[in-house]
Parts: sequence; C-alpha cells; structure tokens
Amino acid sequence: MKGFLIVLSGPSGAGKNSVMNAVFPTIPNLKYSISVTTRPPRAGEVDGVNYFFRTEEEFDQMLKDDLLLESATFVGYRYGTPKSFVYDQIEAGNAVIMDIDIQGAAQIREKMPEAVFVFLLPPTPEELSRRLKRRGSDSEEVIRRRLAKSHEEIKHIVDYDYYIINDDLGRAAEQLRQIILSEWSRVNRLDLERLRTVWKGGSSVEYTETSR
Ligand code: 5GP
Repeated sequence: MKGFLIVLSGPSGAGKNSVMNAVFPTIPNLKYSISVTTRPPRAGEVDGVNYFFRTEEEFDQMLKDDLLLESATFVGYRYGTPKSFVYDQIEAGNAVIMDIDIQGAAQIREKMPEAVFVFLLPPTPEELSRRLKRRGSDSEEVIRRRLAKSHEEIKHIVDYDYYIINDDLGRAAEQLRQIILSEWSRVNRLDLERLRTVWKGGSSVEYTETSR
C-alpha cells in the first residue's frame, strides 16, 4: 500500500484534536504531522508533541530553507507543516493526518491533489462559542476573532471531499476512521509493482494502468 495525506480542517474549537486522538489508537499506520507555530503554548501543550513552538525568526528561517510544505497566518500567528516528515511517512506507506486551516489546505490541494480533504463542523455556532469559552485558554478578544473567522472558513467546505459534524465525539471519530480506511482501500493507492511481484507465479497477471 502507498501512504497518503489526510487534511483535516474546521473552525478552531470544532474538536479536531479530540476526534483525531480517538482515531489514532485504532489505526496504527496513521501518523500526525506536528506543525510549527509562532503562537505561545496553551496550558498543557508540549513542544514537539502538540506543536513545534518557534520564534518569528526561526519560522522565517524555515521558510527560507524551504522546509515547510505549506504555511499560513491565522488570527495573528503563523503556522506551517514540516515537509520532510510528511514525505518520509508517505514513502514508508503510512497515512499522515494534518490539522491545518483553509489557506494551508488550498496550498496542499495545489501540490498534492491526491490528498484527502476532510472538513469538521461544530453542530451550531452557539455550540462552537460555548466550546471556545469552555476551553478557557484564549482571551475574549481572541475568541471573538476565532468565531468571526469560523463563518469565513465554513464557506470553503465545498472545496473538501468529506464533511463530519462533530455533535457526538464517538460518532464523529468513527466517521473519520471509516473515511481513512475506505480511502486506503482505493485501487489507485495500491502498489501495483509490488502486487505484480507477489503474483508473478500466477496465471499471466496483467494490470492495465488507466489515467486515474
Ligand atoms: P490553534 O491555534 O487553535 O491550535 O490553531 C489555529 C488554526 O491553525 C486551526 O485552524 C488549525 O487548523 C490551524 N493550523 C494548525 N497547524 C497548522 C499548519 O501547520 N498550517 C496551517 N495552514 N494551519 C495550521
């Protein structure tokens, strides 16, 4: 099997982390792409686990050295995806999931159109507002800006392949799991060279490559 990329977007507070964390133990070949950010860590966040927390200068240097697959500014802070991890994991046959905003997703769509694009929706704007306040990690002003941003982001759902409504964590996680497993079963992700090798003793196994 070839590895592939899953891009997960959705408003801040939609529950992307909770949904992903529920799926990781069930799919061992699913790896998380840890982003670089200039945002300060929230309580409980650990450098190298949740994000690589870096200064503006360090972020600029990474851009200059062409180490980022995509990058964007979101509500005043910069975010980016380290390139080598994604390529190495896909090469190794793993699926890589990244939690990135709509600007980053648009860049990935240009570079890697074979990636899978999933949008996670909170059930209602009111519930999103409650979740952001309950998280208690952002100031009133940041929460206001994130809520305003969510209305803009949701307009871009039409550019995604799948949507999940996160009204129930268990169900939303199961839906993401099913999407990943189904995508993994696509014939165009099958390593035909390897299949040919395995089946070489069989009766004239020929595969016609299509334009897919
Ligand atoms: P937060 O600060 O709440 O962790 O993330 C804010 C937003 O930045 C979220 O929408 C999240 O998806 C997005 N984000 C996190 N990492 C990246 C990244 O590497 N690239 C881009 N473009 N967005 C990211």
